[in-house]
Amino acid sequence: MIFRQFFDSISSTYTYLISSGHGREALIIDPVLEKTDQYIQLLNQLDLKLVKVIDTHIHADHISGLAELRDRTKCITIMGEHAPADVVSMNVRDSEKISIENINLTALYTPGHTDDSYSFLMKDRVFTGDTLLIKGTGRTDFQNGNPYDQYNSLFDRLLKLPEETYIFPAHDYKGESVSTIGEEKKFNPRLQVSSVQEYASIMDNLNLANPKMMDIAVPANKNLGFTIDKQKNLNGISYDRLKNISKSDDVVLIDLREPIEIEKKSSLVNSINIPYSTLQKYFKNQKELLKNKTLIFYCAVGERSAMAIQISQAYQLKKTYHLVGGLNNL
Ligand code: FE
Repeated sequence: MIFRQFFDSISSTYTYLISSGHGREALIIDPVLEKTDQYIQLLNQLDLKLVKVIDTHIHADHISGLAELRDRTKCITIMGEHAPADVVSMNVRDSEKISIENINLTALYTPGHTDDSYSFLMKDRVFTGDTLLIKGTGRTDFQNGNPYDQYNSLFDRLLKLPEETYIFPAHDYKGESVSTIGEEKKFNPRLQVSSVQEYASIMDNLNLANPKMMDIAVPANKNLGFTIDKQKNLNGISYDRLKNISKSDDVVLIDLREPIEIEKKSSLVNSINIPYSTLQKYFKNQKELLKNKTLIFYCAVGERSAMAIQISQAYQLKKTYHLVGGLNNL
């Protein structure tokens, strides 16, 4: 397995790159915009294909690299379902799996630092975002943070993982890079409390200044997704138009979502499911069949389908449309 930890010294952010090996698919967690070149360079050097990128929550101290990585690699952007839906191309719920080639991550909803905070469990390690830090916990005084929720996320979820589970947080301010659940249970001063009230009173009396970047980073990170205008400009159509065009015989209606999303909201009638990450393979294999067809793509929020239009241009597919706003908008 390839596992790399990057550090941004300005915001003290850790970013993680995961892949099962050279030449395979890769995933990045909590990228920092200014470090994008560094990630791309390593992806190229190790011959990795970035397919998914995750933010654990809407960050207040740096601008996320999600949108830049998406634009440069055409990868899928993912956050938990409590994040604003149009920020990313795919939202996951508690306990759902995020998969790339040979690797699975389980989403754990761990609110408290913010109300959209998720952790991601991968076998022997857990990416805790700002919920559990090394010898600390993420502040709970902005972005709908709540110390009572955080206490539950810590004591009822994360600390119930096996003691040897490695913890990889989104930040560290003291030069530590990794810990374990067992070490944090014993040595994390914030966790040496006997009640939720005691924890809340610690968190409510931290009196921290707001992050320097907060007024810039939070709005920027809430606007990472393709705007409706951008979606429209990439052969975007309304649902009514989709229904009209679909009546013709030469149309292939393609649902780009993943099976876990289709379980939550079923596909439109007469469509086939080609998950976005397999789209290029589909284009290559079905070149002859698709040549004279009209293709209509759709997904959850219209971002993957808009990117599918961009990708289809490279395969000389000319009659292509996609559903603006995606299924979640209907
Ligand atoms: Fe944070």
